[in-house]
Amino acid sequence: MKRFTALLMSMLLFTHTVCCANRYINMTLTYDYQKHNYNAEEVFTAVDGVKLTGLAMPPIILNDYTLVPAREVFEKLGAKVEWKKDIEQVFVTYGNTLVIIPINSENAYVNGQVKKMDTKAMIINNKTMIPLRFVSTALGFKIEWDSNTRVANIITKDIALTTVQTTVTTEQTTETTTAMLTTKAEVTTEAQPVTSANNEYIWYDYDNDALYVKNTGIALSDISEQDDYNEGKYIITINKKLQTSNTAFTPDSDYVESCTVSVGNKTTITFNENRIMAMDISNVNGYICFKSIPPKSKYDKIVIIDAGHGGSQPGALGNDIIEKDITLAMANSVKSKLDSDGRVKCYMTRPDDRDVGLEERAEMAHDIGGDMFISIHINSVENNTEANGTETYSLYPNDLGNGLTSYAVAEEMLDRLITNLGTNNRKVKSNTYVVLKTNKIPAALCEIGFLTNENDAEIMKNGVDKVGQAIFDGIIDLFNKYPSVR
Ligand SMILES: [Zn+2]
Repeated sequence: MKRFTALLMSMLLFTHTVCCANRYINMTLTYDYQKHNYNAEEVFTAVDGVKLTGLAMPPIILNDYTLVPAREVFEKLGAKVEWKKDIEQVFVTYGNTLVIIPINSENAYVNGQVKKMDTKAMIINNKTMIPLRFVSTALGFKIEWDSNTRVANIITKDIALTTVQTTVTTEQTTETTTAMLTTKAEVTTEAQPVTSANNEYIWYDYDNDALYVKNTGIALSDISEQDDYNEGKYIITINKKLQTSNTAFTPDSDYVESCTVSVGNKTTITFNENRIMAMDISNVNGYICFKSIPPKSKYDKIVIIDAGHGGSQPGALGNDIIEKDITLAMANSVKSKLDSDGRVKCYMTRPDDRDVGLEERAEMAHDIGGDMFISIHINSVENNTEANGTETYSLYPNDLGNGLTSYAVAEEMLDRLITNLGTNNRKVKSNTYVVLKTNKIPAALCEIGFLTNENDAEIMKNGVDKVGQAIFDGIIDLFNKYPSVR
């Protein structure tokens, strides 16, 4: 890079000493909602030695990189140039190569692979201006820069259409003739598992974390979603065979680590998650767009239900009750009621008998952006079969701005549980349980009853659905009293 800068500087000096006859252009450029004064030596673009004249916007150099009007220049090369207004992207197709250039982004997509550009494409004076060198080399053309005439000549002759992609290396662009046109087409070095995204049929927009599938008669009713967040997956099934083959993308974005598309009579798209996400599915400009979004952008009420213990941690045992099993049954009861009701999105810290760390449970609630966290446990006490009743716990208020506190959740749950179960009221208490201590959202822990007490044990064994109903009713009531703030 140092060598290159020195070269650039010497070229600048050289240019100034010998080419005094060049014309300066002075014009106002409007971009980024502002007017900018542009005063620079004129530069030209040529195709195979024929200078392009009469362009509505001249080539301009911003931050040392040349931008040219997309359509006027690249259609001259025989490329197809499309402006996709809805998604603010330019599609340039030549031979078997598709280059997608989003506006105001440094990432472009060459046959589905993300490539970093040194400068952004921009809308300037209402014209779509794209980086000359990057797009030309991505399409497989060579560029020669003549510093005397200040012409960037795009050479299309003798370039076989099939030799595009991956032939560009950064170092080769530091030839003396290229000093002013230094949009280096940096080819990302890491392997991309993209196999068949080299068409407009399916592609991934890495900037917006969205997969686009050309809509060839896919109805939204053909699409089903499976939010398998406990396995770190979000799975889309399309009841149609897509006109593409199996492919994969590795956005490694905040939400999506990788995305695989498996094509059969049905098409399965699996998003492997970096964190729990939701999905926005829409029709955009002839494409079905699968955009990964934060859960709270999609759901206005979110509750996290935590079935106590699990896996290698059974919890308390006695009177034919295993704590981890009955808490899961109670949690499942709440979830199925919430799911069939549909007003509140419910996440479970564990969907089955598995180990999940205590802090991990609270972190999950925070990460999702939940409104309420409810942990379900069963009480026990040694050498005492008399102790009985329901108690709930809260610790920090964790008010998210709507007035709902952990205490209010604990109080609501207690009232509902003792009413539905007919158990003894042991009041709302406070304790530094890890799931309460590390939680950042309103959180309550419910000790439903004592499995060491025969009567409580019977009530609980027969009362799984009553517990589910009490917690469900409490959640709905709390959301009515304290609408979530988004
Ligand atoms: Zn417990």
